[in-house]
Amino acid sequence: MKRIAIITSGGDAPGMNAAIRAIVLSCHEQHIECLGFYHGYNGLINDEFIFLTPELVSPIIQRGGTILKSARCKEMHQDEGVKQVANTLTKHQIDALIVIGGDGSFRGMMALQSDWSGNLIGVPATIDNDIACTDKTIGFASAVNTATQAIDNIRDTANAFERVFIVEVMGRRSGHIAFNVGLAAGAEAILSFENCNLNSLEQAKSHLITQIQSQLLEQHTGFVIVLAENLWPKGPHGLQQTLKDTAGIESAVCVLGYIQRGGSPCPEDRILATELGIEAVSAAKNSTGMMVGKVNGQISRHCIIRATEQNKPVDQALHSAYHHMSKLNN
Ligand code: ATP
Repeated sequence: MKRIAIITSGGDAPGMNAAIRAIVLSCHEQHIECLGFYHGYNGLINDEFIFLTPELVSPIIQRGGTILKSARCKEMHQDEGVKQVANTLTKHQIDALIVIGGDGSFRGMMALQSDWSGNLIGVPATIDNDIACTDKTIGFASAVNTATQAIDNIRDTANAFERVFIVEVMGRRSGHIAFNVGLAAGAEAILSFENCNLNSLEQAKSHLITQIQSQLLEQHTGFVIVLAENLWPKGPHGLQQTLKDTAGIESAVCVLGYIQRGGSPCPEDRILATELGIEAVSAAKNSTGMMVGKVNGQISRHCIIRATEQNKPVDQALHSAYHHMSKLNN
């Protein structure tokens, strides 16, 4: 193998730079050239790239975001776009493409398989942690740290004013962030896809109201609800209105939003990104259609189809811990 290409695609995640660094340094040691294409698949369509050298990547392990930039690329949903990407890879005599991103980015990789014969390897990086075949994705641990710290700050005001706070966290349609952050921040309630669905919203609402009323009355303290994005109709403001209309409960809303995606990666993410980056180069030499992951402490390779099609549920142990704690709180 002489040349590999790298892209970072989809939502940026802390640790993407650490993964780029590990890939480039591993390649350098094995005399493999590395081309970094900018803005996800767009860079491969527009032929916009840089030769990645050890000098360029050595000092980036602690930096959030991605030096290769990231983006969505709608052209990849059309055959023409996929063909353009394949042409660029062929033109530069690329032997393998390493895609650092989420499940959508891996679907893009799968679309390329029919037009390009080089090796395709995925490195899971998304704060949502919604990819199977790896216990954690790169960026998840940092996002949980950031969101937990933010709720710790909110907690001070919640307690001082004995106020209800609804804090919306990211996660797309999965509750990994909500459950981890909710437990770590000692949230009084966690509302996520795993414990609340469209059919059980009424029940969740009544339970929440009883919980808030008894706790505010008896304990004179704040009440923090961690709400997964895309769950409640009309979002956190919808829930705020519901609490007011149904039970006269006033609350404040805080949408954590993009602060969860940014910032310096925590050590856990830097280490995971380094391990997966090294494995990705190794995998790129003799396999294709694979994603590298870490399962039960072991670095491993998995068929990309399994990684994208399987659902990764939130750990049952987290559910149990949350239910246990909510009983103790009431
Ligand atoms: P995150 O979930 O963290 O935002 P992601 O990789 O899942 O990351 P997406 O926006 O879903 O983010 O996908 C990133 C890009 O991958 C898309 O903009 C598109 O270029 C490509 N892609 C996604 N799905 C497909 C698909 N079915 N076919 C071809 N390309 C796709």
